[in-house]
Amino acid sequence: MKPVSPCDILIVGGGVIGLTLANALACTTNASVSLIEKKTWLTPSHSEICLSSVPVSALTWSSIQLMKNLGIWSLIPSQYLCFLDQMIVWDQEGIGSLHLNAATTGYPYMGCLIENHRLEEALLLKLKTTRVQLLDQVELISICDNNESVLLDTNQGYFKAKLVIGADGSCSMLRALSGMPTISKSCLHHAIVCQIQTHFSSPQQAWQVFQKTGVLAVLPLSSPDLLSRKAIVWSTLPHIAHQLMHMNDAEFSAAFLKASEQCVGEIQNMSARLCIPLVQRHVKKYYINRIVLVGDAAHTIHPLAGQGMNLGLLDVAALAHLIRNTSSLMHQATLQAMLAQYQALRQQENHLMRYAMHFLQHFFCQQSPGLHSFRQFGMQSLNQSKWMKNFLIRYAMGLKKNSSVLMDVDLTV
Ligand SMILES: Cc1cc2nc3c(=O)[nH]c(=O)nc-3n(C[C@H](O)[C@H](O)[C@H](O)COP(=O)(O)OP(=O)(O)OC[C@H]3O[C@@H](n4cnc5c(N)ncnc54)[C@H](O)[C@@H]3O)c2cc1C
Repeated sequence: MKPVSPCDILIVGGGVIGLTLANALACTTNASVSLIEKKTWLTPSHSEICLSSVPVSALTWSSIQLMKNLGIWSLIPSQYLCFLDQMIVWDQEGIGSLHLNAATTGYPYMGCLIENHRLEEALLLKLKTTRVQLLDQVELISICDNNESVLLDTNQGYFKAKLVIGADGSCSMLRALSGMPTISKSCLHHAIVCQIQTHFSSPQQAWQVFQKTGVLAVLPLSSPDLLSRKAIVWSTLPHIAHQLMHMNDAEFSAAFLKASEQCVGEIQNMSARLCIPLVQRHVKKYYINRIVLVGDAAHTIHPLAGQGMNLGLLDVAALAHLIRNTSSLMHQATLQAMLAQYQALRQQENHLMRYAMHFLQHFFCQQSPGLHSFRQFGMQSLNQSKWMKNFLIRYAMGLKKNSSVLMDVDLTV
């Protein structure tokens, strides 16, 4: 007979979203919290910066604020951070371009580029100083949900909790096992992800070019060398992605130079390439009985605006805030009311971002003469309108009134 480990709240999945939620709950509730993760966590290594194809995220100002409020930000060595203060966006088929600059908002930067594993290391370091029980190499196998608790069967024994939170990513096992209806649709793009080094040094600037076949983003990363390190996220049609994956480095460099219109010059060194099929997914309801989803487990979007993780962090802040104000997790009606409030707070905003990404992808990648002229006009008008540009940058930075004090941004900066 396998042993049963009881707790009040069990988090399934120890990616950035699950680890941030565990830290937030450690700050806001006295409930007992456990987190299970199927991978093995490596101890923070403070390893050297090198070129790799590990995932990178652009955190918005408000996500950084959350990390600061939880005491995580100061644990990340500054050499792993690259603050972004400018971005140039253009349409390969036309003449219009959009120049976004943090300085126009009065903020020193728009966001920060960081490799996800550096963030995970800091989150783990902080969690080890809390009461949260952290268990790796534990994989969820099945669940049994009743009115009073959820029983989870794993490769390491049973877990029993009053509330189970799924932060187990886009292919969430918890979502599948609990039978939550999900809308899932291909974004019609695959993303080629890798890191490069070039001579071109503009350390805090990003570039994004919309092509008829996709979107190429070149993002700055912290660079210890004289050469400047950048992450590429090249979302394109599956057959082109297939070709790009099968090119040798010289062929890929030439294809990149052409597509990027030499914005960062020639590639000097590059990492291996990774190809990720992009899917937009959304659960119809964020909770069922005593199970609730956050982050990619609940929603995924096209990465063209780098907002997926930032949305997940907003889920975390909202849920942690509501759990703090809930009198009893045991009482079914109270719990259901709290989970309904969580869904009401988050679903609309997540939907809105999904629609916005869908619109942007199709607006820029569709080719018709009318749409082409309209795009040129739109981009030029937007670039000339200070008010509109400011609105856009502030939205992308996550500068708005949030539903949780954990995420509160100092708007006086
Ligand atoms: C190409 C690309 C670029 C992106 N760029 C950005 C960006 O610039 N900015 C941004 O905000 N977002 C970006 N995103 C989105 C961002 O990467 C995700 O939203 C984010 O990583 C989701 O984190 P998560 O913790 O929810 O999921 P994950 O990172 O997938 O973590 C899930 C965790 O659960 C564990 N797990 C899975 N199944 C089980 C199980 N059965 N039992 C136990 N554990 C389990 C996994 O091992 C994993 O550790 C990008 C995405 C892509 C594809």
